[in-house]
Amino acid sequence: MNRWVEEQLRPLPTDYAWERFGAEERRVSWDGFLSYDGVLYGLPAEPPVAGSVVQVRERQLQLRVFSKGSLIATLTKRPRSQEIVQHPTQFSKVSPTGSLRKTEQPLGHQVTPPTVEIRNLAEYDHLFRKAGNTMKEIPELLKTLHFKYVEPQLANLMEEARIHSLTYDAFLRRVLSLEVEARTHTAHQNRRKAAHLPVSKTLEAFDFSFQPSINERLVCELADLSFVRTHSNVVFLGPPGVGKTHLALSLAGKALDAGYSVFFSTLTDLVEDLEQASQQHALKARLRRYITPQVLVIDEIGYTNLSALQANHLFELVRERYEQGATILTSNTSFAQWGKLMNDEVLATALLDRLLHHAEVLTINGKSYRMKDRNQRKEARPEQ
Ligand code: ADP
Ligand code: MG
Repeated sequence: MNRWVEEQLRPLPTDYAWERFGAEERRVSWDGFLSYDGVLYGLPAEPPVAGSVVQVRERQLQLRVFSKGSLIATLTKRPRSQEIVQHPTQFSKVSPTGSLRKTEQPLGHQVTPPTVEIRNLAEYDHLFRKAGNTMKEIPELLKTLHFKYVEPQLANLMEEARIHSLTYDAFLRRVLSLEVEARTHTAHQNRRKAAHLPVSKTLEAFDFSFQPSINERLVCELADLSFVRTHSNVVFLGPPGVGKTHLALSLAGKALDAGYSVFFSTLTDLVEDLEQASQQHALKARLRRYITPQVLVIDEIGYTNLSALQANHLFELVRERYEQGATILTSNTSFAQWGKLMNDEVLATALLDRLLHHAEVLTINGKSYRMKDRNQRKEARPEQ
């Protein structure tokens, strides 16, 4: 008691002490009850507090309930028991029974729970059966779309997507690009097959130093295929073995790689084929084989003389391809000899007129590469 006097201490004002120390936190149940000292106290419907935390301050058998700093209810404290005390307005917002189940949010003021679609159980069966069918449907859909490459790989692709956790767009991109790549590859193979190249040759394998009369720069320019785009012609002239066919095949290979359609034939095969077709009254259809490719190679012009009919067929072909497609020709005879070759000077002139209007002519004056090998062998074994 001395200290009270000495230190001039005074008891705290009762209200202050109560405010300061008496608050206890409680979470209000979803149906608006507050549990305090073993009694469930109902809270009014307004303001909405169900599910939230409130503060309870007890004083002289009175409970004052605060929410967010304001007093929302003053309740009479009940003796400790299992009593449940309903508040008169606690369920004022709850719809009457019957529809009670649906609007079970008891105080009508709670956070709306996420809506869940309620189906009957049979519907789930149906849904899962449908999902199973979808898995079976995919290969059928891929077949319908002619996704020939992806279709047998689908299971692997999906497994791979799962392992690498691919996003939907990454997976779709992978599937589509695989199919496109495979199609491009197949198309390329098919084009190459349809081109009937007797053998594959490349410019890289061509030894320009052996054939100095060839303008290497011009050949490289031709390899960029602008002559294909402008429907121009390329003529390789020169004696046997200097690489005319090799160069023609190299350009044809480049054109195939670039996606152009190509057809290769020797002149003899070509005119014989057309002659046979004309005997069967199918010349027009057969001509299409030589007219439609974007690049036509006519090899070995000059080895055999043509009949009048064959010369006409060749002229017809050149006329049709004029400014419509690119033609690569190789010949061991000069243009002056083509009249003799076709047995018709006038026709040969008309043909060359069209052929050379847009054309690069490369004349090769050199030794035969075939002979080079033979000469080298001879040099290696001079006693023979
Ligand atoms: P051409 O058609 O002029 O008669 P080819 O092109 O058929 O001659 O050439 C004959 C052979 O020699 C082919 O196997 C070809 O690949 C090869 N050849 C020709 N010239 C060269 C060269 N300069 N470099 C490499 N190989 C060549
Ligand atoms: Mg040749």
